[in-house]
Amino acid sequence: MNLAFKKPAQALRSLDSIAEALLLPSGIDGVYARTAIFEKVIDGLADLISSYREDKTEVLRFPPVMSRRQIEKSGYLKSFPHFLGCICCLHGDEREIQANVERYEAGGDWTGGLSAADLVLSPAACYPVYPLAASRGHVPAEGLIFDVACDCFRREPSKMLDRLQSFRMREYVRIGTPAQVQNFRSRWIKRGERLAAQLGLNYRIDQASDPFFGRGGKLMAMSQVEQALKFELLVPIHSEQEPTACVSFNYHREHFGATWNLCNASGQIAHTGCVAFGMDRLALALFATHGVEFAQWPTRVRQALMV
Ligand code: ATP
Ligand code: ZN
Repeated sequence: MNLAFKKPAQALRSLDSIAEALLLPSGIDGVYARTAIFEKVIDGLADLISSYREDKTEVLRFPPVMSRRQIEKSGYLKSFPHFLGCICCLHGDEREIQANVERYEAGGDWTGGLSAADLVLSPAACYPVYPLAASRGHVPAEGLIFDVACDCFRREPSKMLDRLQSFRMREYVRIGTPAQVQNFRSRWIKRGERLAAQLGLNYRIDQASDPFFGRGGKLMAMSQVEQALKFELLVPIHSEQEPTACVSFNYHREHFGATWNLCNASGQIAHTGCVAFGMDRLALALFATHGVEFAQWPTRVRQALMV
């Protein structure tokens, strides 16, 4: 694999110096209010990504919450328990709920009365699609393609603007035979490169692993690399030495198929894969590369994004 960036080193805008034009602090690391110019780029990116959508793709937009049972069954707690945000509410009758409110009003802690609801904050856009597809019966011979998106949450507070706790993810998901999923991923790696070039971004593709939890996680990460299950499109946002993953290309093999009993008509377990666009990271990459004045952006990039 060629690990060089496509373009020679470019001067990047320091995100600190342009932050106030893009993302306004909320008082919590990794959670920001987005300005109109930031959202203009997000909207342009969303449309551009849609223009690459393949035929016979079903479009679904998920809310930022999903079923706790589904995420538990997906194995998320084994791999990434440190990222998961679970919705907690004041359950109980009126008297019990009122007691918590009164504790708060008396200057005490009301959160001790919280208990877990049946919801978590979605940590990635594709998790709800596998049980949904499985509920419809057999996977057809030509397989399935979905276009999904949602606001995602991961408990990884950071001062870095490209590592958010609340961020937007758009994904294309393929369900089918191993060959169908692998072809899909190869096509999308090429398309991802085309898209980055169209946006005037410097980039390279590299193999990657997920930040699995704990000591066992190191082994899982090694096995993921060994099986070449994850590739990323990396763009320098802070520096070329530590580029940022803006798009990932994942092959899950039979993990979700076996979990949800996704099979074709002859009973073979489906394989799955996804290409995931980090919308906020792509927008930041554009601002770090081209600056905050659209007037200074290359014309073809402005045209591609309609900004
Ligand atoms: P990283 O290696 O940087 O932690 P990841 O490998 O965990 O990212 P994925 O799980 O593949 O990321 O998520 C899909 C995409 O979502 C990533 O390619 C990235 O663009 C985006 N993303 C992931 N985590 C964050 C985050 N904390 N803030 C903003 N975008 C993110
Ligand atoms: Zn996914």
